[in-house]
Amino acid sequence: MNIMVRIFMVGLPLFLLASFSGIAQTLSLEQLLDSAQAYDNKEIDVQAEVLDKLTQEKGYWLNLGDKGVSLGVWVDKEIEISNIARPGSYAINGDIIRIQGVFHSSCKEHLGQTDIHAYRISLVEEGSLRKERVLPHKKFFAIAWLVSFLVILGVYSAKELLEKSKRRSQ
Ligand SMILES: [Zn+2]
Repeated sequence: MNIMVRIFMVGLPLFLLASFSGIAQTLSLEQLLDSAQAYDNKEIDVQAEVLDKLTQEKGYWLNLGDKGVSLGVWVDKEIEISNIARPGSYAINGDIIRIQGVFHSSCKEHLGQTDIHAYRISLVEEGSLRKERVLPHKKFFAIAWLVSFLVILGVYSAKELLEKSKRRSQ
Protein backbone atom coordinates (compact mmCIF):
# COMPACT_ATOMS: atom_id res chain seq x y z
CA MET A 1 0.00 0.00 0.00
CA ASN A 2 1.13 3.53 -0.77
CA ILE A 3 2.74 5.16 2.26
CA MET A 4 0.62 8.30 1.84
CA VAL A 5 -2.60 6.25 1.90
CA ARG A 6 -1.40 4.52 5.05
CA ILE A 7 -0.64 7.83 6.76
CA PHE A 8 -4.05 9.08 5.71
CA MET A 9 -5.84 5.99 7.07
CA VAL A 10 -4.13 6.26 10.44
CA GLY A 11 -4.17 10.04 10.55
CA LEU A 12 -7.80 10.61 9.67
CA PRO A 13 -9.35 8.81 12.68
CA LEU A 14 -6.85 10.53 14.97
CA PHE A 15 -7.70 13.89 13.48
CA LEU A 16 -11.45 13.25 13.87
CA LEU A 17 -10.96 12.11 17.46
CA ALA A 18 -9.00 15.28 18.25
CA SER A 19 -11.68 17.45 16.62
CA PHE A 20 -14.50 15.80 18.55
CA SER A 21 -12.70 16.05 21.88
CA GLY A 22 -12.12 19.72 20.98
CA ILE A 23 -15.86 20.31 20.69
CA ALA A 24 -16.53 18.77 24.09
CA GLN A 25 -13.88 20.94 25.75
CA THR A 26 -15.03 23.50 28.30
CA LEU A 27 -13.57 26.92 27.52
CA SER A 28 -12.64 29.78 29.80
CA LEU A 29 -14.12 33.22 29.02
CA GLU A 30 -10.67 34.38 27.98
CA GLN A 31 -10.27 31.53 25.45
CA LEU A 32 -13.75 32.21 24.09
CA LEU A 33 -13.28 35.98 23.68
CA ASP A 34 -9.76 35.57 22.27
CA SER A 35 -11.23 33.53 19.41
CA ALA A 36 -14.58 35.35 19.20
CA GLN A 37 -14.70 35.20 15.40
CA ALA A 38 -14.07 31.46 15.31
CA TYR A 39 -16.86 30.78 17.82
CA ASP A 40 -19.34 33.29 16.39
CA ASN A 41 -22.87 31.78 16.19
CA LYS A 42 -21.48 28.39 17.24
CA GLU A 43 -22.35 26.09 20.13
CA ILE A 44 -19.94 26.61 22.98
CA ASP A 45 -19.32 25.27 26.46
CA VAL A 46 -17.80 27.71 28.99
CA GLN A 47 -17.17 27.86 32.70
CA ALA A 48 -17.04 31.07 34.78
CA GLU A 49 -18.14 32.84 37.97
CA VAL A 50 -21.54 34.55 38.26
CA LEU A 51 -20.91 38.26 39.08
CA ASP A 52 -24.45 39.59 38.69
CA LYS A 53 -27.93 38.42 37.87
CA LEU A 54 -30.64 40.69 36.45
CA THR A 55 -34.18 39.33 36.35
CA GLN A 56 -36.22 40.31 33.32
CA GLU A 57 -39.76 39.57 32.17
CA LYS A 58 -38.72 36.80 29.78
CA GLY A 59 -35.63 35.49 31.54
CA TYR A 60 -32.35 36.48 33.16
CA TRP A 61 -29.13 38.23 32.28
CA LEU A 62 -26.14 36.72 34.01
CA ASN A 63 -22.92 38.69 34.08
CA LEU A 64 -20.07 36.21 34.08
CA GLY A 65 -16.52 37.01 35.02
CA ASP A 66 -13.15 35.31 34.97
CA LYS A 67 -9.67 36.85 35.29
CA GLY A 68 -10.76 40.40 34.50
CA VAL A 69 -12.94 39.58 31.48
CA SER A 70 -16.73 39.51 31.62
CA LEU A 71 -19.58 38.52 29.38
CA GLY A 72 -23.39 38.62 29.45
CA VAL A 73 -25.42 35.43 29.17
CA TRP A 74 -29.08 35.42 28.26
CA VAL A 75 -31.06 32.67 30.01
CA ASP A 76 -34.66 31.96 29.06
CA LYS A 77 -37.23 31.83 31.89
CA GLU A 78 -37.88 28.15 31.06
CA ILE A 79 -34.43 27.23 32.41
CA GLU A 80 -34.44 26.78 36.18
CA ILE A 81 -31.43 28.56 37.70
CA SER A 82 -32.64 29.89 41.08
CA ASN A 83 -30.37 27.56 43.07
CA ILE A 84 -27.35 27.39 40.80
CA ALA A 85 -26.47 30.87 39.63
CA ARG A 86 -26.11 32.96 42.77
CA PRO A 87 -24.04 36.08 42.16
CA GLY A 88 -21.07 37.01 44.30
CA SER A 89 -20.72 40.00 46.60
CA TYR A 90 -17.83 41.62 48.45
CA ALA A 91 -17.90 38.81 51.00
CA ILE A 92 -18.80 35.81 48.85
CA ASN A 93 -17.58 34.47 45.53
CA GLY A 94 -20.34 33.83 43.03
CA ASP A 95 -21.25 30.31 41.95
CA ILE A 96 -19.02 28.81 39.27
CA ILE A 97 -21.29 27.56 36.53
CA ARG A 98 -20.97 25.76 33.22
CA ILE A 99 -22.93 27.23 30.33
CA GLN A 100 -23.81 25.42 27.16
CA GLY A 101 -25.27 27.70 24.54
CA VAL A 102 -24.70 29.67 21.37
CA PHE A 103 -22.12 32.46 21.29
CA HIS A 104 -22.78 35.71 19.40
CA SER A 105 -19.91 38.13 18.89
CA SER A 106 -22.53 40.68 17.79
CA CYS A 107 -26.03 39.62 18.82
CA LYS A 108 -28.82 40.76 16.48
CA GLU A 109 -31.45 40.30 19.20
CA HIS A 110 -29.59 42.39 21.76
CA LEU A 111 -28.32 45.53 20.00
CA GLY A 112 -25.10 44.03 18.73
CA GLN A 113 -23.86 43.04 22.17
CA THR A 114 -21.44 40.17 22.60
CA ASP A 115 -23.37 37.49 24.45
CA ILE A 116 -24.24 33.83 24.91
CA HIS A 117 -27.77 32.47 24.66
CA ALA A 118 -27.73 29.56 27.10
CA TYR A 119 -29.71 26.38 26.68
CA ARG A 120 -28.23 24.49 29.61
CA ILE A 121 -26.66 25.68 32.85
CA SER A 122 -25.14 23.53 35.54
CA LEU A 123 -23.40 24.20 38.84
CA VAL A 124 -19.68 23.43 38.96
CA GLU A 125 -18.81 24.90 42.36
CA GLU A 126 -20.91 26.69 44.94
CA GLY A 127 -19.84 30.22 45.87
CA SER A 128 -17.69 30.41 48.99
CA LEU A 129 -16.45 33.09 51.38
CA ARG A 130 -13.82 35.31 49.83
CA LYS A 131 -10.34 34.83 51.26
CA GLU A 132 -9.07 38.10 49.87
CA ARG A 133 -10.72 41.49 49.82
CA VAL A 134 -11.79 42.85 46.46
CA LEU A 135 -9.25 45.37 45.23
CA PRO A 136 -10.60 48.88 44.56
CA HIS A 137 -9.77 48.73 40.82
CA LYS A 138 -11.62 45.42 40.56
CA LYS A 139 -14.67 47.01 42.17
CA PHE A 140 -14.44 49.88 39.70
CA PHE A 141 -14.21 47.42 36.81
CA ALA A 142 -17.31 45.54 37.97
CA ILE A 143 -19.31 48.74 38.49
CA ALA A 144 -18.24 50.19 35.12
CA TRP A 145 -19.37 47.01 33.42
CA LEU A 146 -22.73 47.07 35.24
CA VAL A 147 -23.37 50.71 34.34
CA SER A 148 -22.65 50.17 30.63
CA PHE A 149 -24.74 47.01 30.74
CA LEU A 150 -27.72 48.85 32.28
CA VAL A 151 -27.45 51.59 29.65
CA ILE A 152 -27.56 49.01 26.85
CA LEU A 153 -30.45 47.27 28.59
CA GLY A 154 -32.31 50.59 28.93
CA VAL A 155 -31.89 51.37 25.22
CA TYR A 156 -32.98 47.85 24.35
CA SER A 157 -36.11 48.05 26.57
CA ALA A 158 -36.99 51.47 25.13
CA LYS A 159 -36.62 50.10 21.61
CA GLU A 160 -38.86 47.15 22.49
CA LEU A 161 -41.52 49.45 23.99
CA LEU A 162 -41.39 51.64 20.90
CA GLU A 163 -41.88 48.63 18.64
CA LYS A 164 -44.78 47.40 20.80
CA SER A 165 -46.54 50.75 20.63
CA LYS A 166 -45.87 50.89 16.86
CA ARG A 167 -47.46 47.47 16.45
CA ARG A 168 -50.47 48.58 18.51
CA SER A 169 -51.01 51.72 16.45
CA GLN A 170 -50.90 49.78 13.18
ZN1 LIG B 1 -28.38 38.10 22.60
